[in-house]
Amino acid sequence: GYRSRAAYKLKQLDREEDLLHEGKTVVDLGAAPGGWLQVASEEVGESGTVIGVDLQRIKDVDGVETVRGDMTDESTKEEVRDLAGDAVDVVVSDMAPNMTGEYSVDHARSVHLARQAFETALDVLDTGGDFAVKVFEGQDLDDFREDLDEEFQYVRTLRPDASRDSSSEVYLVAKGRMTAPVAEGD
Ligand code: SAM
Repeated sequence: GYRSRAAYKLKQLDREEDLLHEGKTVVDLGAAPGGWLQVASEEVGESGTVIGVDLQRIKDVDGVETVRGDMTDESTKEEVRDLAGDAVDVVVSDMAPNMTGEYSVDHARSVHLARQAFETALDVLDTGGDFAVKVFEGQDLDDFREDLDEEFQYVRTLRPDASRDSSSEVYLVAKGRMTAPVAEGD
């Protein structure tokens, strides 16, 4: 069995958007307790690499490297960059803020975390790489999605079955990181 029900969300995202493959390198942000890490490590197999990051300690998962740290800290981002390199195939983030119950606050914090994940994705993803990120719906979602649109071939918004109860949560799946066009002329 998996450590979290969340594992089934990643399975569904993978089924629908084809994210995980044998031999790939995957970085998982907000990975504790480790359900997504279990799914990712099954899918990439022994020739693949999985790195998990969380504020909380993550119990060992076979073949997975973990970092304990805060993804809003520059030092954690650096640690992830050093460990993962800059040719990562997939970055996933299931990070969620501590809920206050106040909708606009929870939304704003969720978008902030999602943007930290996006920044790391741009640091480490190879051209053609994919990014999937959880975010709570609200007024800043469209702007965030537009920013993803500029960096990836396409972006889809998905709501996995296992997310149905927590009504405001969606996943943006951004496929095919594009390389920044080189300016012509000078
Ligand atoms: N995908 C995980 C699984 O399958 O087991 C569940 C992730 S849980 C929904 C969200 C996680 O995000 C929590 O473990 C939390 O500690 C982590 N998180 C929240 N803010 C974070 C931050 N600033 N840096 C790192 N992790 C963070």
